[in-house]
Amino acid sequence: AEAQLRQSQKMEAVGQLTGGIAHDFNNMLTGIMGALDIIKRRLASGRLEGVERFMDAATASAQRAAGLTHRLLAFSRRQPLDRKPVDVRQLILDMRELLDRSLGEQVELRVQPSPDCWAAVTDANQLENALLNLAINARDAMPDGGQLSIETHNIALVAGEMPGLIIQGKQDFVAITVRDTGVGMSAEVLEKVFEPFFTTKPIGQGTGLGLSMVYGFTQQSGGGVDIKSKPAQGTAITLYLPRSPAESQIDVRRGSPVPQG
Ligand code: ADP
Repeated sequence: AEAQLRQSQKMEAVGQLTGGIAHDFNNMLTGIMGALDIIKRRLASGRLEGVERFMDAATASAQRAAGLTHRLLAFSRRQPLDRKPVDVRQLILDMRELLDRSLGEQVELRVQPSPDCWAAVTDANQLENALLNLAINARDAMPDGGQLSIETHNIALVAGEMPGLIIQGKQDFVAITVRDTGVGMSAEVLEKVFEPFFTTKPIGQGTGLGLSMVYGFTQQSGGGVDIKSKPAQGTAITLYLPRSPAESQIDVRRGSPVPQG
């Protein structure tokens, strides 16, 4: 409970633009200004050859900055969840193409939601977002390629069984596990991964917001998230989402109701 309190205090502090983000942003602006300066001088001296390279660099830097503000806005807004029964199996199957495209050739993708997967009560869009975030983290953890699998299982948990999950008595959850064969995390990293803005990635490449967003999303859904990771072996991140009590009310946009197991 203390860890949770600390976490929620951190989440609240996120409304402010921190030094780290301002620093990243400043670096991107410096990149743009530097490139513009070179272009201006090249224009003045008529040395136009290769000038396009600097224009591309400025554009790339501006795009990174735009991406950063976009994610920051999405994070600080953190819209309330649009909670509905969601066919988790179908949602995952529907993401296969997007995931394949995001992961590149080097990563072998195994999408294996269980056929008897329960429906969950959650926000379908935010769940997709969370899974995409996890997949991209997994890709980053496998620079030389590897395997990424997404599996589900149905699980009944009792109070106290899962840290960070508030359960009264016994409750059914849909567990979604995203597993990679990447670099894994040290104990020090593992301790900090849910902190907003914590990142081990180079400036401009990581915002450190992915896992804190995933954390916030599962908490808001009435579930939780668990990470198992070993350096040089890989990482498995499991999202726990509450089972929908009304299987028949499954979001029809997402196909037929899942069979009952
Ligand atoms: P970001 O990806 O922008 O760094 P996240 O909050 O998503 O922000 O992740 C925080 C850190 O957690 C990453 O910088 C990385 O060190 C670590 N991490 C996240 N996912 C994985 C993974 N699948 N394997 C290894 N490390 C990971």
